[in-house]
Amino acid sequence: MKPCHPKKIGHLLHGRRNSVDNKDDQEDGAGLCDCTQRAQVDTSQVDKSYRSYRCSHRFMEELTLSGSQLVRTGKSVDHCGYCKTDASSICEGMLALSLNVMDYQNLIDHGWRRSGRYVYKPINKKTCCPMYTIRCEISSFHLSKSHKKVLRNMNKYLLKGKPVQSLSETKRKEWNKYLANPIGELPAPHSMSDFYDNEDASSRSPAEHNERGKSRVNAERRKTDSLSEEFSSRKGSFVDSAVSNDGTHRKKAKVIRHENKVNKLLSQGYSEKEIHERLKTSKVVPQVSSNLEDYMSKLESGTNKLLIKLVRTSPKSKEYRETERESFQLYRKYQIVIHGDEPNEVTKSGFVGFLVDSPLEPVGSENDPSSSYGSFHQQYWINGTLIAVGVIDILPYCVSSVYFYYDPDFKVLSLGTYGALSEIFFTKNLKLANPMIQFYYMGYYIHSCPKMRYKGSFPPSFLLCPENYTWHPIERCLPKLDLSKYSRFHEEIRADGSELIRG
Ligand SMILES: [Zn+2]
Repeated sequence: MKPCHPKKIGHLLHGRRNSVDNKDDQEDGAGLCDCTQRAQVDTSQVDKSYRSYRCSHRFMEELTLSGSQLVRTGKSVDHCGYCKTDASSICEGMLALSLNVMDYQNLIDHGWRRSGRYVYKPINKKTCCPMYTIRCEISSFHLSKSHKKVLRNMNKYLLKGKPVQSLSETKRKEWNKYLANPIGELPAPHSMSDFYDNEDASSRSPAEHNERGKSRVNAERRKTDSLSEEFSSRKGSFVDSAVSNDGTHRKKAKVIRHENKVNKLLSQGYSEKEIHERLKTSKVVPQVSSNLEDYMSKLESGTNKLLIKLVRTSPKSKEYRETERESFQLYRKYQIVIHGDEPNEVTKSGFVGFLVDSPLEPVGSENDPSSSYGSFHQQYWINGTLIAVGVIDILPYCVSSVYFYYDPDFKVLSLGTYGALSEIFFTKNLKLANPMIQFYYMGYYIHSCPKMRYKGSFPPSFLLCPENYTWHPIERCLPKLDLSKYSRFHEEIRADGSELIRG
């Protein structure tokens, strides 16, 4: 969900960039390539009928955009936040003055993404960490075990957790104290045990117990996507549980229960064979199937009431303006705690440029999302306290996730994963009213960076072929990416070696 760090695009938005020389283009044999004509960011370069922009250096990308205004900014070479290498992340870029939603749909279906008004596309053959556009087909989406665990945890908190106000108030004081003197360790986030009264704490799952030991956030944490952190920590806890005391306890209890049953039946005069048959049949238990809708619809009553509110951010709606300060403060806390940003680095203008300002031309009203398009925030309020914000674009065929930030004090609720599931649920509901909307785009899948592979865990997922822009099930792409960090996915090649070009 993290397309591009705001610091990475800052210089582009201010007209400064690290450009590479034209030699690269010549080496690619890109004699026809018009991106050798480097454009500075100035409005005289606006291309109103943008087409035939050869950005892959191999294919002429036939895109006819209808009325959008884009300024080419050329290539940028930046520090890579994924492999932590300097001058290795190579992208093509454009500054969008205005962009209609259909044009942007076309662009993302050709490997582009937006970050604020900056529209960029990694040059996958050259960049250190190739990025492949990934989307989930929502009509066939199914929950994994770890998704269900996240949903159960959240529902349990909403139903019988301590009121969010009392939790937030405690942390607010610690947070204000830290901001007044931002040196040393950050305030610890809540652990799962903080969320419940004593009698509920005894019913915590083993994984929840594990979380108790992770109460301190390391100030030198690595800058990774929030979801990836959750993915990694969950993975770690699963591995731990197989060998830890918790896992052993579960196994022992099961064995003890079995032994007790056997002993009871033996005392009743059953033979070993009969006991074996009885216990075998008793294992057959009806399967309870819970889908996303089941989990999301169980939120009607409880200690904490979750309200997910859709507000248009570009142009700023009244609802957004009234909550902008709160939203920015939440973003600031998130960037400092989760991504290790310095407090003075996280500015209001940076926030607005990255997550509020958008070139997408609005269509419709947010009161009727089924016929509205453009840029929005989904605000997650619990009893009137803002705990998370999903930044999304609603486009003709999809909901596209731009970013997700949340209150780090609630990190153990796996809000990043919860947000993705909630956005899939939202997209499914949009589809009921507007059948054209069929996909949930999660940005880029980066196979060469293990921490970023979590985006492939929302099945069924498809990756965009970086050469002919067709979609392929991720399962078929992964073996190719295991062999080489760059790969095309479409295998259709003409007899003369040329390939299909799709516009
Ligand atoms: Zn890299």
